[in-house]
Amino acid sequence: MPELVYTPLEDIEKKRTELRNGFKSGKLRSIEYRKYQLLQLTYLVKENAEKLEEALAADMGRPAIESRFIEVNGTITETLGAYNNVEKWAKPEKAPFNMTWFPMKPTVHKEPKGTVLIICPFNYPIWLSLGPIAGALAAGNTVLLKPSESTPATSTLLTELIAKYLDNDLVQVVNGAVAETTKLLELQWDHILYTGSGRVAKIVSAAAAKHLTPVTLELGGKSPVFVDPNCDLEVTAKRILWGKVVNAGQTCVAPDYVLVPRAFQSTLVEALKKQYAEFYPDGPQAKDAYARIVTPQAYNRIKGLVDGTKGKVAIGGETDAEGKYIAPTIVEDVPIGDSLLSEEIFGPVLPIVPVENVDEAIEYVNAHDHPLAIYIFSRDAEFKKKVLTSTQSGGVGINETVLHSGAEGLPFGGIGPSGSGYHTGKHTFDIFTHLRATIDNPSWVDRILSIRYPPYTAKKFKAIQGMQAKLPPKPKGPPTGAAGAGWQRWFVLALAVALAGGLTQRAKSIAGWITGGSARIA
Ligand code: NAD
Repeated sequence: MPELVYTPLEDIEKKRTELRNGFKSGKLRSIEYRKYQLLQLTYLVKENAEKLEEALAADMGRPAIESRFIEVNGTITETLGAYNNVEKWAKPEKAPFNMTWFPMKPTVHKEPKGTVLIICPFNYPIWLSLGPIAGALAAGNTVLLKPSESTPATSTLLTELIAKYLDNDLVQVVNGAVAETTKLLELQWDHILYTGSGRVAKIVSAAAAKHLTPVTLELGGKSPVFVDPNCDLEVTAKRILWGKVVNAGQTCVAPDYVLVPRAFQSTLVEALKKQYAEFYPDGPQAKDAYARIVTPQAYNRIKGLVDGTKGKVAIGGETDAEGKYIAPTIVEDVPIGDSLLSEEIFGPVLPIVPVENVDEAIEYVNAHDHPLAIYIFSRDAEFKKKVLTSTQSGGVGINETVLHSGAEGLPFGGIGPSGSGYHTGKHTFDIFTHLRATIDNPSWVDRILSIRYPPYTAKKFKAIQGMQAKLPPKPKGPPTGAAGAGWQRWFVLALAVALAGGLTQRAKSIAGWITGGSARIA
């Protein structure tokens, strides 16, 4: 395992100055140059996929197939997506047509913010560093990357490859831990994208506030799973277990705990046991079967949570401190207030919390921080709708875990304590883009708009009053009944009157009109 060389503290400001000069050089004003860098970035991943997978295996024991599926391929999609779309994304946009403003050519220009800082966590170090770098470069920014110190092999390799493949006037890396990040945060940046824990996010936000630097926070939290007995049991067990074991549960959107009706708990646990046996015919400790915990500190934290549980270990539970190994572990009968419900687990342990019904599950989730993800396993449209409409979360997976975070085109981000702002694809480009609004007003417009100039007269006042936007009639009171159900109410009313036989021919035709002429009213 290579030792990660920390950047000397005295070099950090110099790097920021070089990147500021890189921004001023104007290289990235050229979309062609941005595309060149984005293609270089894509080839960085493509040509070094095996090396990157080996580094991830050295840092986290992650099987290569997992790295290829969830990280390497996803990163290529991100960087290539930026390469393919940068012209479209960066193109100025005309404001929607408006009679008053159109002569002034109101336009939105997609401008870079300047020199930006990207701080990364350890768990998906390639995707969460190179994806954001692609978005920042596509938007025309220069970038300082701070990778995690907890993945020395991957951070060392990324540092080498970025120096080799990218223009170092535009992208540089600072390696280190708290001292180096603190130094970085003392400096002024034009945007900070921080991905990591809520605890450090507060430090980052406080430091950014000193310079009024805009911040995007991609955080984590406890993502619950709602299981309805009316679900596809085998698929439910398979997808929950996969979401938990991939990268040994060190995934921001890993299912954190399961809420299940008490009477259905044992059925679900049996299905999970069956899947567990299928996933690991030679046991999870076998070579290339399953990842390891990133550091001894993280291992001790997760083990401490399991040691403190009042629930019953149904599957797994085996640990090996030297190998930083914690077997995929499912704990049933976990009571409210348990150690496993006290913080984001961020490891391969899945507590199952029995509840009376879905209402109790919803109440529990709503009494805690808005999660990064909510998962719903059900075949019942009403069940899905109930959970969706009664809760808040960054995203939702219905009959799936984890995958929504990689779905192309979808924004990925939290809400409240699980984060603010959205990344991946065009959303990452938007993080690093300033929408610069312009007008270009020809002189002839003054023939109409000279009324704004002094001296102020009663005639001008009247003319300005005439320009005021027209309002709909003032409401007589708040709307009655469910919002958005207006036409249905009228339809039901018309139907009831028609059935009662009191409808005139004229009213019948109105009812027909309301329903698009398709209803037959007897
Ligand atoms: P972390 O917060 O410990 O570290 C993230 C970064 O912050 C590292 O680069 C680290 O060097 C730096 N850092 C740590 N302590 C610091 C301090 N005191 N001052 C300044 N900088 C400091 O997070 P982690 O353990 O690497 O990652 C796990 C967390 O990240 C989980 O909460 C997970 O849910 C979250 N996460 C979120 C997303 C997302 O997209 N929403 C993705 C991956 C991980």
